[in-house]
Amino acid sequence: MTQTSSATVLKGKPVADKLLGELQAAIPGLASRAGRPPGLAAVLVGEDPASQVYVRLKEKKANELGIATFDHRLPAGTPQRDLEALIGKLNADPAVDGILVQLPLPEQIKEEQVLRRVALEKDVDVFHPENFGLLALKQGVLKPCTPAGVIEILKHYEIGISGKRVVMIGRSKIVGLPLALLLLHENATMTICHSRTRDIPAVAREADIVIAAMGKARFVTADMVREGAVVVDVGINRVGEKLVGDCDYEALLPKVSAITPVPGGVGPMTIAMLMVNTVRAFRLHAFPEEIL
Ligand code: NAP
Repeated sequence: MTQTSSATVLKGKPVADKLLGELQAAIPGLASRAGRPPGLAAVLVGEDPASQVYVRLKEKKANELGIATFDHRLPAGTPQRDLEALIGKLNADPAVDGILVQLPLPEQIKEEQVLRRVALEKDVDVFHPENFGLLALKQGVLKPCTPAGVIEILKHYEIGISGKRVVMIGRSKIVGLPLALLLLHENATMTICHSRTRDIPAVAREADIVIAAMGKARFVTADMVREGAVVVDVGINRVGEKLVGDCDYEALLPKVSAITPVPGGVGPMTIAMLMVNTVRAFRLHAFPEEIL
């Protein structure tokens, strides 16, 4: 028997394209008023191929929108002090509004110490602990890219968050934890699961919205969600030649009311939100009275 599904496929590209289109329309006017374009500096240490691809994609998208990019590639053996000195220079550079330090950094580098060096107002990835604290208190000016992208998708497809029971699987500082905070700020009733949680299937079955950000291919199966639930899959896992999410998309599709695909769901949102943050940081820098 062929199963048919009426589930909404929550594609990220139309949402990302809408946001990017708005930025593209706004940037020329903002740049002419400021007398310079927004500027994004990318710092890449070492030759990790995936990181090289990510940085290239981010810079390409920025340039398409009219954002100037400043590319800094450092050898894998770069000492901590040299990397911190570069960040100090970028912090002081008036043409740079956003600084992204591509992770992971090589072993000899103390990542947290580097991320703390980025000026708060140029921290477009929102990795600085002080910005994380402001986010937790709902006082942040910039929102972390992937988590903010998930909220944008839910809002675009008019999936209500307020009052919903949301189960977040994963509590990383980049995705799970900040996303749980953003959802809480949207008045969701939050449960956060992690590797020590007992009986995740039973917890997930209570949820109106299940969000997976674990890095475990097809972990969330159809028996783990209730009929009509919404599923957001942040995971990206390589299985052979294929990219798959943390959720078993094909098995879930007939059961859920809406689901993000992988690829093409949350993925396109991360770069779009980085662009949103860069332009926001630029406006903060050039026209603070209009933002604060
Ligand atoms: P991470 O730092 O490795 O964190 C994984 C989280 O999942 C941890 O909190 C971990 O729990 C939890 N976890 C792992 N195995 C589990 C299990 N068997 N049961 C319950 N919880 C488990 O990963 P991340 O950076 O958050 O990334 C998660 C996934 O999202 C990855 O696939 C990554 O590639 C993807 N991602 C996608 C985007 C995008 O743009 N779409 C952006 C960022 C990340 P503990 O805390 O207890 O260890």
